[in-house]
Amino acid sequence: MKTLQQIVDESERIVFFGGAGVSTESGIPDFRSEDGLYRQKYTVSPETMLSHDYFFSHTEEFFAFYREKMLPLWAEPNAAHKKIAELEKRGKLIAVVTQNIDGLHQKAGSKTVFELHGTVHKNTCVKCRKSYSAEEIAASKGIPRCSCGGLVKPDVVLYGEPLDSETVNGAVRAIASADTLIVAGTSLTVYPAAGFVSYFRGKYLVLINRDPTPLDGACDLVLHGKVGEILSEIQL
Ligand code: NAD
Repeated sequence: MKTLQQIVDESERIVFFGGAGVSTESGIPDFRSEDGLYRQKYTVSPETMLSHDYFFSHTEEFFAFYREKMLPLWAEPNAAHKKIAELEKRGKLIAVVTQNIDGLHQKAGSKTVFELHGTVHKNTCVKCRKSYSAEEIAASKGIPRCSCGGLVKPDVVLYGEPLDSETVNGAVRAIASADTLIVAGTSLTVYPAAGFVSYFRGKYLVLINRDPTPLDGACDLVLHGKVGEILSEIQL
C-alpha cells in the first residue's frame, strides 16, 4: 500500500484499465470468479448467448438472459469507481479504459471513459438508428421494438463483433501516453481488450486483482485483493 501511495503521489498521467472485477463490489457478478456467470448453470454458455450470431438467431432468448443478467440498473458506484473519479478530478488521472458495460464509472463522475465493449445505456434501432435508454429495454417485454418496427440492439460489443475504432484509438492513445497504468479487476483473458496493456510505455505498471493474472510477473507492483478496498486507502 505504501508503494502504491508513492506511485500515485509521483504520477501525473495515470490511466486506469479495468474489467468486471471493478464492479463486483457494487454487486454485479463478473464472468470467471467462483460466483461468476460462467460458473452458473445454463444450457447455452454465456459466450454463445452474448454472441452476435445468437443475438440475431435467438433474439428472444438473448433478451431474456440480457435483461436478467446484464442490466443491473440498481447498481451504484463502489469505492473503486469513486476514487478513480476523484483522481481524475484532482488532475492525476487522464482516462479510464474499461471492459465493463455498466456505466458505473460515469455514474461516479468520471469524464474520460473509453468503454471497449460498449454500454448498456445506449440501444439503437437497427433499421432507423433511433436511440433508446437502458430503462426502456429493461421495461420492454420479449423483443424490444422501435416505433418504426425495427429491432432495438444494445450498443454492447457482442462476441464476434469488432470493437469501435474511435474508442480503440482513444484508449490506445491514453495508455501510450500514461506515466502509470493501473490494471484492475480483470482476468486479462478477453482479447483484443487484454492486449491493450502492451501499449503502455510509462514508468509504473500496477496490477490490483483478487486472483493471479498472466500479467503479474511483468508488473512493478502487484496487489492481490479487492480493488475498492485497496483504492479507498489512497490519500489524495
Ligand atoms: P473476468 O470475469 O474474466 O475476470 C474478473 C477478474 O476480476 C478475476 O480475475 C477476479 O479475480 C477479479 N476480481 C473480481 N472481483 C474483484 C474485486 N472486488 N477486486 C479485485 N479483483 C476482483 O472479467 P474481465 O476480465 O473483465 O472479462 C470479462 C468480460 O465480461 C469483459 O469483457 C466485460 O465486458 C464483461 N463483463 C462486464 C461486466 C460489467 O459491466 N460489470 C460484468 C461481467 C462481465
